[in-house]
Amino acid sequence: MAKDFYKVLGVSRSADDKTIKSAYRKLARKYHPDVNPGDKAAEAKFKEISEANEVLSDPEKRKAYDRFGENYENMSGGGDFGGVNFDFGGGGIGSIFEQFFHTAPAEGSRPKGVEAKDLTKEIIVPLEEIDKGTSRTLSYQVQDSCKSCDGTGFVRLKSSRTCPVCQGSGAQRGMFGMSQPCEGCGGTGKSTLERCPTCSGDGVVLSNKRVEVKIPAGIPEGRKLRVPGRGSVGANGRAGDLYVVVKAEKHFQFERKGDDLETEVPVSLTTAVLGGEVRVPTLRGTLTMKINEGSQPGQTLRLANQGMTKLNSNQRGDLFVKLKIALPKNLTPEQRELFEQMAQAEVKA
Ligand SMILES: [Zn+2]
Ligand SMILES: [Zn+2]
Repeated sequence: MAKDFYKVLGVSRSADDKTIKSAYRKLARKYHPDVNPGDKAAEAKFKEISEANEVLSDPEKRKAYDRFGENYENMSGGGDFGGVNFDFGGGGIGSIFEQFFHTAPAEGSRPKGVEAKDLTKEIIVPLEEIDKGTSRTLSYQVQDSCKSCDGTGFVRLKSSRTCPVCQGSGAQRGMFGMSQPCEGCGGTGKSTLERCPTCSGDGVVLSNKRVEVKIPAGIPEGRKLRVPGRGSVGANGRAGDLYVVVKAEKHFQFERKGDDLETEVPVSLTTAVLGGEVRVPTLRGTLTMKINEGSQPGQTLRLANQGMTKLNSNQRGDLFVKLKIALPKNLTPEQRELFEQMAQAEVKA
């Protein structure tokens, strides 16, 4: 079947570029597989008009075609006129309708490829503040929608000029490597669009953000707080989330174990042996704790409800107090005498 590309596009042999483009666009709209799902005839027609456009919109190919007809590829003496390949199988066609027929980036469209991302930041907070609940203002740098172009990557000029997308050719390489009308100018080569100078057309810029993060009392160690929409902004204006990991600063007196706290207190030898009282630090002041007669080194006592505030609760964990019995180092003569008496008593016992 001899194909007349001019007839396929319904244009005269003397048609200019603009006429060819416009005829092609009209037909492509009509026969595009997205518009005619499952219609084999439409698909074949679409391939045909695309092939015709591929040839007639390229001045060199058109010249060869005009001279040699359908066999122009064989006759053109090894010119770089690769065949036109189509592959509509197996999906992947989804957005090409959009790619074909955008005459300008639509409202709300964003440059492709820039992805929204979640962002994770860590904050270290004193244990006392975690116990009470607190807040922190987080300053950070993140990818955000460009304000100059509203994230589109393009700004509009008052008058039209050479299209920045196609550099004036009016055509773009599509996903099948074939030529298609430029998205930026609809194939005219002229456009009032200019690549946004602020973001170089990316649609996103680095921006400094400040976010106040509320830290609930008793938040478990390493828990992530989610701040929706405060992550990295990407294509389509979608924003990732910010995750704030809260960790406790190392404390000089306490170690946190879940909702409980652990600490060590020095106890004098006589208090351990005879019993008595010791002062115990807690997160909220100092308490007096009773020591039984005969307490042992390393023994751990529990002070109920003196641990951390439990998250979302009025209750607290416990404080575990380990006894560190302080043995005397430099004895006075009097103490020495007393210890010697004790030693003799031990021998007799
Ligand atoms: Zn263009
Ligand atoms: Zn911009």
